[in-house]
Amino acid sequence: MKKDAAERSNTSTDFPIVIPRDQHSVSRKYISENALKVLYRLQKSGFDAYLVGGGVRDMLLGIKPKDFDIATNATPEQIKSLFRNCRLIGRRFRLAHIVFGRDIIEVATFRGHHDSASDKDKSCKKTSKQSEHGMLLRDNIYGSIDEDAERRDFTINALYYSIADFNIYDFADGVEDIKQRTIRLIGDPETRYREDPVRMLRAVRFATKLDMTISEETASPIYALSDLLANIPPARMFEEFLKLFISGKAVANFNMLREFNLFEHLFPIVEQALQGEQAAQLEQFVVLAMSNTDERINNDLRVTPAFLLAAFLWYPLSQRIAALRDSTQLTPQDAFFAALNEVMSEQQRSIAVPKRFQAPMKDIWVLQDKLNRREGKKAYKTLEHPKFRAGYDFLLLRGEIEGGDTAQLAKWWTEFQEASPELQQMMIKAVPNSRGSRRTVRKRRKPRKPKAPAQ
Ligand code: ATP
Ligand code: MG
Repeated sequence: MKKDAAERSNTSTDFPIVIPRDQHSVSRKYISENALKVLYRLQKSGFDAYLVGGGVRDMLLGIKPKDFDIATNATPEQIKSLFRNCRLIGRRFRLAHIVFGRDIIEVATFRGHHDSASDKDKSCKKTSKQSEHGMLLRDNIYGSIDEDAERRDFTINALYYSIADFNIYDFADGVEDIKQRTIRLIGDPETRYREDPVRMLRAVRFATKLDMTISEETASPIYALSDLLANIPPARMFEEFLKLFISGKAVANFNMLREFNLFEHLFPIVEQALQGEQAAQLEQFVVLAMSNTDERINNDLRVTPAFLLAAFLWYPLSQRIAALRDSTQLTPQDAFFAALNEVMSEQQRSIAVPKRFQAPMKDIWVLQDKLNRREGKKAYKTLEHPKFRAGYDFLLLRGEIEGGDTAQLAKWWTEFQEASPELQQMMIKAVPNSRGSRRTVRKRRKPRKPKAPAQ
């Protein structure tokens, strides 16, 4: 690390670079009360305690931190004994969570080097484990603060704010990279991506979130290594999906992930469809769904991942339904559910979508058919569906992209919701092309016996 940074600046910098409190913008004023409580309790108990990661980085950039991460030389067990509200979590990476209602402060013990520890300690199999691809399956060897800094991902994330003297300790020239707006991995990029391929997704996420550029050495190995993402457990991929797509930067992340061939590892079915015949329509649709989501998040409105997931998979699902209907005797309903099961189980192999989001995704899709059937009492029943709003919003988006009948249908529902009961009745009677009216047309086409004219 020292060598890399020194080579970069052509000077022999001694690390850490110490930035005294009067020369930086990190201040206790901007740190949450809970994070301060944890920092002080650790310090008063004789441990070193630092704010690290996004908290320091974002404050230096003048952004409000999303959360506060703390690093200490206390072991997880020692941390647990200090806080009643502490939960130890993680196998791969053991951490302490100090829980204050909905606010969680993450406290990590300084990580050490794997090779040196394995020489010293033969029992390290329990604490450190690597896969055949060089991926770290366990990273629980503890060390000193400078070793900890080398185990962190990007230089801008290896800045430590000390609660003892309020200095910032910069172990990898991260302050300079913040100034240059550069995302740069610490150490050899290929090794670091092999240890944890999720770092490729993190590089993209920080580039878009912080409006920074990924340095050439950090960016170039991604193309060749993107397949390593296949080794990441789908549950962890779901967490990364949320950070990438439910964060107000979904469109930017989508574009950059596609540039680096990373998107196909999150949504293989969608990427395949993006190479197919209906690529343009699909791309327009998902970009519209993502920009709506981004806008809602940036206006502090609620969003559900289910809506975006339903949007990503909608056209691939429709294509699958059409293919099944062409090649089998399945009824429309059976073809729909068969396609839905195929698409969902394929998707689950990359990203494990929790059940609580799968159910509303299915509701949104089922509603697309229900919204089309408006005869008799059906429109009223659909209106009472618990997920009507999401299904209708989804139809509005489809209408914007598809135009034609879909846009007409969306307009009909917009008017129907605002109409008086009398007008609603008239609207239902006037529904064009509904199954009911088609049947009527067909009946009328049959030759009939002439009836006596009504009086
Ligand atoms: P934000 O919370 O704003 O998304 P962050 O940088 O705080 O960004 P976290 O996921 O909260 O990101 O992680 C906290 C810190 O832990 C990071 O800044 C980094 O130093 C370290 N870290 C997280 N994930 C990894 C990883 N996969 N490899 C190495 N270090 C990591
Ligand atoms: Mg963080």
